[in-house]
Amino acid sequence: MLRMRGVRKEFRGNTVLDGLDLDVPEHAVVVLIGASGSGKSTLLRCANLLEPVTDGTIHLDGEHITDPRVDADRVRRRIGMVFQSFNLFPHMTVLDNVTLAPRRVHRRERREAEEKARELLDRVGLADKAEEYPDRLSGGQQQRAAIVRALVNGPRLLLLDEITSALDPELVGEVLDLVRGLREDGMTMLLATHEMGFARQVADTVCFLEGGRVLEQGPPEQVLGDPREPRTRRFLQRII
Ligand code: ADP
Ligand code: MG
Repeated sequence: MLRMRGVRKEFRGNTVLDGLDLDVPEHAVVVLIGASGSGKSTLLRCANLLEPVTDGTIHLDGEHITDPRVDADRVRRRIGMVFQSFNLFPHMTVLDNVTLAPRRVHRRERREAEEKARELLDRVGLADKAEEYPDRLSGGQQQRAAIVRALVNGPRLLLLDEITSALDPELVGEVLDLVRGLREDGMTMLLATHEMGFARQVADTVCFLEGGRVLEQGPPEQVLGDPREPRTRRFLQRII
């Protein structure tokens, strides 16, 4: 589904991704772990064409999306992204937040977009919050609404960047449950997290990033339970 080859990203001469290779097969959940500053968010932003890569190639569904002739908006319609901070518009209801993309980008009928949005809100337990403003929702509810917004276009791939980091501990579970449900549905996901227990449960593959490269990757039991690389081991010891 997603293939990154030799991806380099520099910010003003500072190398953040250093010839990175990564594959996300269809229906797989790939989890990025690594110290703060190791490049997880930059990787996700490059995959979504929010950041141009300095070098290397990214393919989505076999299409070369880092080709400069590619229409980035068209690519982004096939990718859903959720951030640490929910980024809902405070002056718009949940329903309007969730249907903003389909109405603006797709020029679909408003009714069709709302129908789909209400169906998804219902699925994530927010049916009764559609007409509320974000500040009337808990952090966990806001993040679930943000996930619905990412899903409403029917994306092929979902990118999730530390989506529980801004939540109070008691609200983390409801958001992770939602991600587990998406996994059951076969959604292809690439996510960055500091929740190692969650990574172990949902990941098909865990990738440990360091210095802008994938230093080690494999099944969660191996990478998290019995890492080959001393630096992966040291990282895990520090955070547990
Ligand atoms: P992580 O998500 O793993 O914490 P990031 O991808 O956010 O890592 O950051 C990796 C490095 O890239 C950091 O050193 C950060 O300062 C740098 N960086 C990220 N975004 C920018 C930017 N827009 N301009 C300059 N440097 C950036
Ligand atoms: Mg980050």
